[in-house]
Amino acid sequence: MKYPKIREIKEAVISLVSPAYTTSFPKKPHKPYKDYRGKPVVDNDNCVGCETCANVCPPLAITFEDDREKGIRTIRRDYGKCIFCGQCQEHCITGKGVKLSDEIYDMASYDRTDNVEYQEKELLLCKNCGAIITTKEHYVFMHKKLGPKAYSSILNLNVLNDKLKLSAKDEAEVDIHDELKRKDMFNVLCPNCLHEAQKKNF
Ligand code: SF4
Ligand code: SF4
Repeated sequence: MKYPKIREIKEAVISLVSPAYTTSFPKKPHKPYKDYRGKPVVDNDNCVGCETCANVCPPLAITFEDDREKGIRTIRRDYGKCIFCGQCQEHCITGKGVKLSDEIYDMASYDRTDNVEYQEKELLLCKNCGAIITTKEHYVFMHKKLGPKAYSSILNLNVLNDKLKLSAKDEAEVDIHDELKRKDMFNVLCPNCLHEAQKKNF
């Protein structure tokens, strides 16, 4: 019993004269270590709303909601649930849509909604049945990524069609109101409707 007690007294004395091991946050800002994994930060210009990050997020901190009527996809990122694993950054298809920052201590809040962020992306819908194909930005991204190989897909060709002006604000009204015809295969269709249009006689 004698030696442990001496050791404990020695440690107590050292602690008294040593600087505090813990930080003074929030009195002083927290200085993270190199490669510290903190809050993921989205770069909306490089995020195409593809849903990949939501599919790899372990605690389901990222969720998507599609509104067909408005043609809008809403992305919700709840950093109160985030475990800072970095999977969203690792698997982001553009490589630049989301990156982990070194911010984490400053996320402390009494209101959970302070750590929820939203984005909105315009959807690409089938002109015949209204099925969701993906977001327009996602489609344009894939098209650029594929380069000349994009021409092997008829949908890609149609997206390229100037008349459709998919990436422009004043998109032409090209919805199909009558029965699906073979010529409609040159419109923006989901795979099911495209298949149906290709089966039609001229
Ligand atoms: S860091 Fe991990 S937990 Fe946080 S949003 Fe990204 S994938 Fe989800
Ligand atoms: S994976 Fe990247 S591009 Fe796709 S929604 Fe997530 S952040 Fe955006």
